[in-house]
Amino acid sequence: MIFDMHVHTTFSPCSRMRVDEAVAAAGQSGLDGICITDHDTMNIRLVLTEGVQENGVVVIFGMEYTTSRGDFLVFGPFEALDPGLSADRLLQIVDRSGGIAIAAHPFRKERPVDARIVEDGRCRVIESLNGRNTARENAAVQPWRNGYDLTECGGSDAHTIEEVGRFVTRFFVPVRTRSDLIAALKNRLCRPEDRTDEGLYVPDSRPYFIQAESGASLR
Ligand SMILES: [Zn+2]
Ligand SMILES: [Zn+2]
Repeated sequence: MIFDMHVHTTFSPCSRMRVDEAVAAAGQSGLDGICITDHDTMNIRLVLTEGVQENGVVVIFGMEYTTSRGDFLVFGPFEALDPGLSADRLLQIVDRSGGIAIAAHPFRKERPVDARIVEDGRCRVIESLNGRNTARENAAVQPWRNGYDLTECGGSDAHTIEEVGRFVTRFFVPVRTRSDLIAALKNRLCRPEDRTDEGLYVPDSRPYFIQAESGASLR
C-alpha cells in the first residue's frame, strides 16, 4: 500500500489545502492513503473521521511536532500533547506511549534534525525522501545507511494539491489504522519511493537513486 506520510492541511498556518482536497488528490494520484501531519496540532480530527474515506483513501492522523532540535512526524495518542516540548521529552513520551517518531527532513538546510538524536538511537525512523527537500538534502542520509539500523520512509510534505503523492512510503502489509501504521513502521515493513517526474522538486542537484534489495532502482 502506498501512503504519502506527510501532508499539511489548513490546520497548518502555511497550507491552504483543505483536507477534502488532499483526500481527493490522493485518490486521483493512485495513493492508498495519506497521513495528515499538521504543524503541532491534531485538530484535523475536528473535521474528519480517521480511517477509510468515501473514495477509498485511508486517512491517518499524526502531527509534525516542532522542537529546537528538529521536526518529528509523530503517530500515537498525541491529541492532547502540549506543543513546545524538548526533543528529548517528546521522544520519551512517544516511546512510553507506544507511538512512533520519525525524524522529518533530517538534512534540510533549514530545520534539520540534530544528527545525534538519530545516531545514538533515540529516533530510529527517518524521512529519507521529503518532497520539499532538494535532491542533495535527501541524498545526505546516505552515510546513515551504513552502520545505523534505521527505518526509512517518504512523504511529500505537501502544502498544495499538486504536491500530494510525489514522495511516498510503500508498506508491505495492509495499513488501515493508526496502529497498523505504527506497527508497520516498527517492524520496518516499508520503504520510501519517489514518484516525481525527473527534475520536479529536485532542481539543484544530480538525479539520485535508491537501490532496492533486488538491485532495481526506485527513482
Ligand atoms: Zn508547513
Ligand atoms: Zn511538513
